[in-house]
Amino acid sequence: MPLDKRARKILIDTFWSPSGWKRERAVSPDDLAYAKEHGSMFDPVEVSHDEAVDAAINAVARTTSGAVTRAFLASLSTRRLELRSALGSYAVGRHMQAHSSAGARCVYCGEYQNAADPNILNFERIKWGGVRHYNPRYIALDLEALAAEGAVTPTDEDRQILRSIFETAKGIGQKGRLGDLERALSGLFPSNSSERRTLIGILGYAGILIDPGRPDFRRGFVPDAKREQTPWHKDDWPYPVQWWTGSCGVSESAIDEWFPDLENGS
Ligand SMILES: [Zn+2]
Repeated sequence: MPLDKRARKILIDTFWSPSGWKRERAVSPDDLAYAKEHGSMFDPVEVSHDEAVDAAINAVARTTSGAVTRAFLASLSTRRLELRSALGSYAVGRHMQAHSSAGARCVYCGEYQNAADPNILNFERIKWGGVRHYNPRYIALDLEALAAEGAVTPTDEDRQILRSIFETAKGIGQKGRLGDLERALSGLFPSNSSERRTLIGILGYAGILIDPGRPDFRRGFVPDAKREQTPWHKDDWPYPVQWWTGSCGVSESAIDEWFPDLENGS
């Protein structure tokens, strides 16, 4: 079932104002009860790193590639960002191995022991299509929420938009950078700059926009220490898309794997 409109607005208004993040986060008891009842907000629960990894692996096992790609497609014309996110979570999570960590920060997945507020994670999911796709807590929350959403059916318009996104990336030129791509995608589908950046990041997790000389999540989980950061970006593009330039093109094999029916429109 799609997320209730009022429950969505309560969550967004808790964290965000027209000028950005709110410093004072407050939600009335009535609004919080409504948001919890409709699945947009949660009671803060302590989830350890190891519990979060188990939850992520279980959520991936209950999800299919088809479910996340249909949701991704259906997000394009509708601007339903929460549907866009799950492809990123699934792509990162599907090769994650069961593991445990006792340290403050896990050397394998890179996640901190201290739990992130699930309400902030869900806010980021709905506002931008997710921010922390490496985070096992986020992967679990995102994929469980997609399962609660039920079946999602993309349209021909969605498929046309995705084809135009790939054509734009292919045509950006050898020297094209991520910022050029983000601007070039403007106007292809309803979006703002932050949303287009997130979409580009998800196409990186999916192995479509990558530097083929570097490890990527389609071939196997990339441990935190192997996610080498670019020396030139100070603007938070995630690994692995941060290494992409126009000369990398798009991975046709990744497109064929995720979207086998994109060309014939079925
Ligand atoms: Zn870990």
